[in-house]
Formats: sequence, structure tokens, C-alpha cells
Amino acid sequence: MSTQPQVTLYDTTLRDGAQGEGIHFSLADKLRIAQRLDAFGMHYIEGGWPGSNEKDIDFFREAKKLKFNHAKLAAFGSTRRANTAVEKDPQVALLLEAGTPVVTLVCKTSLLHVTEILRTTPSENLAMIHDTVAYLVKQGREVIFDGEHTFDGYKEDPAYTTACYQAADEAGASYLVLCDTNGGTMPPEIQAITKALAAVVKHAKLGIHTHDDCGLGVANALAGIEAGALQIQGTVNGYGERTGNCNLVTAIANLQLKLGRRVLPDESLARLRDLSLFVDEVANLRPNIRAPFVGETAFAHKGGIHVNAVNKLARSYEHIAPELVGNHQRVLVGELAGRANIMLKARTLGLKLEEKSPEALKVLDQIKSLENQGYEFEAADASFELLVRKALGQYQPFFELVEYHVSIRKNSAHGFDACEATVKLSVNGEKVYTVAEGDGPVNALDAAVRTALIRFYPRLGQMKLVDYKVRIIDSASGTAAKTRVFIESSDGDSTWATVGVSNDIIEASWLALRDSVDYLLARK
Ligand SMILES: [Zn+2]
Repeated sequence: MSTQPQVTLYDTTLRDGAQGEGIHFSLADKLRIAQRLDAFGMHYIEGGWPGSNEKDIDFFREAKKLKFNHAKLAAFGSTRRANTAVEKDPQVALLLEAGTPVVTLVCKTSLLHVTEILRTTPSENLAMIHDTVAYLVKQGREVIFDGEHTFDGYKEDPAYTTACYQAADEAGASYLVLCDTNGGTMPPEIQAITKALAAVVKHAKLGIHTHDDCGLGVANALAGIEAGALQIQGTVNGYGERTGNCNLVTAIANLQLKLGRRVLPDESLARLRDLSLFVDEVANLRPNIRAPFVGETAFAHKGGIHVNAVNKLARSYEHIAPELVGNHQRVLVGELAGRANIMLKARTLGLKLEEKSPEALKVLDQIKSLENQGYEFEAADASFELLVRKALGQYQPFFELVEYHVSIRKNSAHGFDACEATVKLSVNGEKVYTVAEGDGPVNALDAAVRTALIRFYPRLGQMKLVDYKVRIIDSASGTAAKTRVFIESSDGDSTWATVGVSNDIIEASWLALRDSVDYLLARK
């Protein structure tokens, strides 16, 4: 058992995270994410700034109807205006109306910002901090004080920044958070200034809020925790303005697995990857495959020596067991891959392929020959699995192609653009013939195949293409360049990737599409 005091997790994905470029959460998105963060075990969830927009006011109104089991909901806002009584300040009134147990106040703590940006006197700013914190505490709120530009302010004028923190401390804030608002501070400075403020604060605990402008968002937050801060503020996947906030997903894994600071039950930690993917999906962003701990490639092995070693002992090239954070080991089958890669990959997919068996040799031969043609199976697990299943005799075709035809018509004068695909398939001996239109040739082909098959396999109704990538590959033999098509498909629960290669983009697409449909149907 750890005797260190508890570090609390403060998530601001819905406020600071939503400031990131390309991130737009609807009201429904925000409510869904809040509930997921609560189920995951976050201690505080910042829902938004009711004083800044209608959507955030709506969020807090709707959030009152929801039940939060773990988390305390926080409304974010600023201190009262200069020379205004706190009870008369409309922005402060909105914070109370939000009806949350917690209010987080952003306050100026840098003398430069007080005089040059806020354009008020140093003493009035101190009064604004004290009045607003004390007023909200008196109204029964837990108040978290987010001191803006703490580190830059401290470096310019340590006495004034310290006075701001003392004012909030005396007024009854629960946490005094040190913010590296511009993200330019180095870890040793974070530690030194956190320690210096910890020495003068009498009642509250300290917290740390960092940004990733120097690629140090997580490192700086951990430096703050090591120096005595007991709350870490950040966002899921590091969303946020500019280069983003401290990535809470990375920070949580490091706190719990590397620094021995228990912030969550083990079951929650094992859902870390799920949480990361869920939030990316709601935000409609492609997950970062190289994300530490939770990324698709975080435990992927490609080089022959590494693969050989992890086959014998996983921890030889893995810093933690991937399952602890809900991730899994992957073996990439590439040109450099030897037999060990293929065996291990088959095993991670749950396929029994005996080394040196005729089936294994057949798979090896096929992969070598397909790679020579331009195939890559590294990112196409589903095509690889089908190949092995076929070699093992564990595959029965669900349909056969008789023929397809794709036509594209473009009329420059009228901007008229039409794609049509017809397919003739044979399903259980029955011939099916369908035609469909689409936005492009591949889209039309996809629609025609599905129209043909859905009557036999209703599951196809759930399948959608989520990504389609085309690469032109150099031909080693000096003949015409080939096209490699990757398709990623989803049925809502899982995604799978397939590959096709041909001289012709339509045929390459067809091959990848066929594997994608086959894979869905072949799964139990
Ligand atoms: Zn921030």
C-alpha cells in the first residue's frame, strides 16, 4: 500500500480540449463523453464555461439530469470583473446557476498580465481573487483555483504570484493549480516553482495544469506531481489549443505504472485504450497510432531480432505488459520478416499454425510471393488471417465473382459526373446480378456488392468503410507501376483492414473489398 497522498485526476477535455483545432463537440457528444469519463473513474470533469457560450449553459442544464457515480462536475469561469461587486457579476452568477458541486476559477497570477492585459491594479486583482473564491465557497461550492501563467509570472515577479496564491488559499480554495499556460516551461523550473509555492500555501492542496508546446505536457505535469502537486489536469488524448494539453491518458499510465501513484482501480486502467479510442471516435478524429501506451503501434514488433525475442519472452522488448492498459502485442509481417514473425502473428490472431508444418511453409511461400507483387500485410491483419485460414483449410467461400463492370461518365460542360457498377456474383449456386451508383467507382462497386449479398448475409448491413488508401508502388521489374489499396472497415464494434494489389486501381480495390466482406462473414 502506498502511503503517499492521493493524486486526483481532473479532466478538461470538454473545455480546454474543445479549444483544439478540428475538435467540435455537439451537446450530445459532450454528455456522452462526460458519462464515459465518469464510468472510467475520473475524479473531476470540467464541463465547460457557462459564461462563454449557450452550448455550455445547455450542457450544465442537461447534466443535472444525469447521475455521476465517481466524478464531481466542475463549471469553469473567471474571477469577478474589476471594480464590480462579486454578487452583481453576471458571469459569476452563471457559474452558480450551472449548479455543479465544483467551480474552477481562472485567475491572473502574473503581474504583467494584470497590468498589461487585464489593465487593473495589482491590489484589485488580489481582491478579485479573494472575493470570488470566498463568495463561491460561501455558496457551498468547492472552488479550484487555476492560476493563469503561474510559471511565467513567478519568474518575472515571484512575490506577486505568491501573493495571488496566498489570497486564494486564505479564501478557501480546495486546490491551487499551477498553470503553464503558454507551455514553454522546462521540467526543472516546474519542480522548483511548485516546491516554492508549496512552502507558502497553508490550507489548500496544489494541482498542475500543463500544455504540450515543447512536447513536455506530460513530463511537466509529472514534474509537478513529484514536487508535491496532488491534482493533475489534462485532456484525453492531449486535445487542446495549439499543440494540446497534458495527455491524461499517458499521464495516468505513467502515474500508476511507473511512479507508483495509484489513481484508478486496475480495471479502469485496463480500459485506458478503450477510453482513448472512444473519445477519438466521438471527436471524429483518427487515433494516433504512435500514442504512448494505447496506440496501435505501442507494442508492435517488426524487426526480425525483436520478434524472435518477444516470441521467447515478451518483456525483452516491451516496457510493460500491454494488457495493463488494454492494449495488445502486434507482430508486423513485412519484407524483413522471417518465419518467426509469421508464426507469432498467427498465434496473436488465435490461429494454430505449427512451425515447419506444410501449411506454415505454404503460408510463408505465399507471403513471399505476394510481397514481391507489392502486397504488404503489416497493416492488413484481416487479409493475413484469411490467407492463413485458407492454407489451413478453414475457409469456405461465401460468394464467387462472375464478373463486374464499372463505368465513369464525366461531362465537363455540365459538371455531370456519374459512376455506376454492375456485379454478377454466384451465392450458393444462385446467380445474383445487381447495379448501383456511387460517388466514385469504388463506392459504386462497394454498393453493388453489398446490394447483391445483403439478402444472403444481413450482417453486411452493419459494415461500413472507414478508410480507403491508395499507394502507387514502384515496380521492381520495370513494368508499369502497381497500385496498392488498403481498406479499413468497421461493424461498429471492431475494425479490420485488408489489402489488394493490381496494375489497375479498380481491381486492387475489388481485391481489398472482397477480403473485407469475406473477413466479416468468416468471423464467428
Ligand atoms: Zn489550459
